[in-house]
Amino acid sequence: MATIRTDRAYAKGLDAADPLAGFADRFVRDDESLIYLDGNSLGRLPVATEARIAQVVRQEWGGGLVRSWASWIELPRRAGDLVGQHLVGAAPGQVAVCDSTTVNLYKLACAALDARPGRDVIVTDDDNFPTDRYVLAGIAGQRGCELRMISTDMDEGISEDALRAAIDDRTALVSLSHVAYRSGALADMARITAIAHDAGALVLWDLCHSAGAVPVELDAAGADLAVGCTYKYVNAGPGAPAFLYVRSELQDSMRQPVWGWFGQRDQFAMGPGYDPAPGIERFLTGTPEVIGIAAVEEGARLLGEAGLGRLRAKGIALTELLIGLADEWLAPHGFAVASPRDSARRGAHVCLRHPEAWQVSQALIGAGVIGDYRTPDRLRLGPTPITSRFTDVWDALQVLRKLAADQSWASIPAGRARVT
Ligand SMILES: *Cc1c(COP(=O)(O)O)cnc(C)c1O
Repeated sequence: MATIRTDRAYAKGLDAADPLAGFADRFVRDDESLIYLDGNSLGRLPVATEARIAQVVRQEWGGGLVRSWASWIELPRRAGDLVGQHLVGAAPGQVAVCDSTTVNLYKLACAALDARPGRDVIVTDDDNFPTDRYVLAGIAGQRGCELRMISTDMDEGISEDALRAAIDDRTALVSLSHVAYRSGALADMARITAIAHDAGALVLWDLCHSAGAVPVELDAAGADLAVGCTYKYVNAGPGAPAFLYVRSELQDSMRQPVWGWFGQRDQFAMGPGYDPAPGIERFLTGTPEVIGIAAVEEGARLLGEAGLGRLRAKGIALTELLIGLADEWLAPHGFAVASPRDSARRGAHVCLRHPEAWQVSQALIGAGVIGDYRTPDRLRLGPTPITSRFTDVWDALQVLRKLAADQSWASIPAGRARVT
């Protein structure tokens, strides 16, 4: 844990020395007084994306009409290669941008089970993101498989010992999140992948809170399969399509369950039966979401320009400042840091525990600081390495400190939050 100073001049100094400081202006900021610490839920709008979407809509759609499919048809793979190169450590031809994370998770989990005949166990953990647990439970129910849930401490993250004990020669698939959505706990991808491989199981990683926030090396870690969304740290906008990764050696031996025409070999031959295309294309389903994928390209390019190494270094520095100030200013008011303190085991966001976290989150929003609440009693603050400033963190914590000193949320009734 680095030592920090608590004066604002210190945060200003960090901004002045920040090699990524200029990127803040590459995003739309209509309200300079708003402090946005929720880029891990919905990233900001890049200026370049606004122009790119206008061009896709006006020129490519409005002017080019159906002729534009000549270039649009390559988008899932072209954007996938950009995501692979800049964000997830994947050589070309292994990533496609398509569908939602939920749908891609379903497709790849089914494909993995089919690729491990005779095995009937899926292993995940009880603190995995809801959609992951639900999708895997649905698949287990449909196929008469066992869904084995290891127990995970919601702050500390996945226990490798528990995982090792749960994986056996019946295990077809291990499916986990790389960065925990609540605490930000970061799993060791290479080590966990090796544990699963030792037992002959495949691994499917969810990278929603990793892609664009922490370096991910899918190829180097020997990962089999991965999915991730693009509207969080990739800044591609609400509902932008997700990505999927299938290691090249596995592609031609795997089949996904949605036999759509965009996954078909020689698609426009309109043949009588489904015959999956070779390579990553077989994991596509139907018509790609062109406008959203264009936004994914812009987001991935911008992150690539910033560089994942620099983004990671800044993410660590931002969260160290946040944790240091929380210890100094907020601990006396009943807040506790609930994310791993070791930066090597933490993604780019931080959770604080407080019995009235929901009311605190509402009071914060009222005071112009956007973070979010997570069950059961967590306040989640996500400074985004490419857009947030160190002074944003300082100012946000100062607001929180004042709210706490005044007990400003005392009059807010306990309520319920969004769960996404
Ligand atoms: C945000 C998130 C999702 C979202 O899935 P969608 O299909 O885009 O709704 C899935 N998994 C994790 C870990 C997430 O953080």
